[in-house]
Amino acid sequence: MASIEQLAVDNVRQLTPYQSARRIGGNGDVWLNANEAPAAPNLTLSDDALNRYPEPQPEQVLTNYAAYAGIGTDQLLVSRGADEAIELLIRTFCGSDDNILYCPPTYGMYTISAQTCGVGIKTVPLTADWQLDVDAIKANLDNVKLVFVCSPNNPTGNLLKREDIEAVIQACAGRAIVVVDEAYIEFSPEANCVELINQYDNVAILRTLSKAFGLAGLRCGFALASAEIIGLLLKVIAPYPIPVPIADLAAQALTPAGINAMQQRVAELNDNRQWLLQQLEQCPDVAATYPGAGNYLLARFHDAPKIFAALSASGVIVRDQSKQLGLDGCLRFTVGEWEELERVVDVLVRHSREGGNP
Ligand SMILES: *Cc1c(COP(=O)(O)O)cnc(C)c1O
Repeated sequence: MASIEQLAVDNVRQLTPYQSARRIGGNGDVWLNANEAPAAPNLTLSDDALNRYPEPQPEQVLTNYAAYAGIGTDQLLVSRGADEAIELLIRTFCGSDDNILYCPPTYGMYTISAQTCGVGIKTVPLTADWQLDVDAIKANLDNVKLVFVCSPNNPTGNLLKREDIEAVIQACAGRAIVVVDEAYIEFSPEANCVELINQYDNVAILRTLSKAFGLAGLRCGFALASAEIIGLLLKVIAPYPIPVPIADLAAQALTPAGINAMQQRVAELNDNRQWLLQQLEQCPDVAATYPGAGNYLLARFHDAPKIFAALSASGVIVRDQSKQLGLDGCLRFTVGEWEELERVVDVLVRHSREGGNP
């Protein structure tokens, strides 16, 4: 007789689930580990017709986001966070003989979603300066249907060069879709790749309300792509993926007033990021800092476990990235309120004064 465990498909039995910030947890009052916004926008439920199923794709959210992004509503899909869009792309384009390709160190959900779906994985590491290794990607496209690239890249923080992204798209023409993950693009809006969806039919862009819009709890994300790609994704997505209250609140967050508030929050957080970077650069425990283009900064420490513990003991929770390829000793700091970052700096200053640095 098979155990219940043995009844599960092999790829699920072998799966280590995504170690999300919430799953890892921690004890503290300053949460700088999940790249969330420090405060939520003020929204109020206005639609209480919960006896009815929602629209398959909420019209007002589509209209507002399409206007914000400068695309047509037929080039847009609303999903349960960008994470659902990642999985939908894999389920739509990859069978069991196909692969996704991604470039570590980067966001962890590409690999988890592929594993969950029983799809193969190829990795081509980023170069030493965390850019795309275009030639190596080109050399590894056999049986690849989706190439995930992330800009600003999480957790390194840098933007990818647009000419490299475009070179990969061209190399993938007729064989694979390139997915540009722009979860943090509002913090560096000039670098957005949205016009590529009009130039190439094999591009999809991921966006979310979780980061700059301050609505991680809402679970609302987007895929932007040709109408043809969106049509395929709509065949695969659940019939009623976006609950009525989510559509209601998301549409409010995407009004001109909501977008304006987001942009003000971004300006403030970008200033805070610059301040934190300067502080980290002066810290003797820090081995290297990296300028970031999102709402987070990566820093390499001489003794990261000790710093992590010192922060944690003071109630400051950051993200340990030291297990990622090439990120030995690296911690990632979400850029929060200035007072929160001051707490980080206080701990670091106290630690180095106590002779913590080697
Ligand atoms: C946070 C994040 C996502 C997922 O966003 P959700 O919309 O909350 O699912 C996707 N990609 C990257 C790079 C992220 O950091």
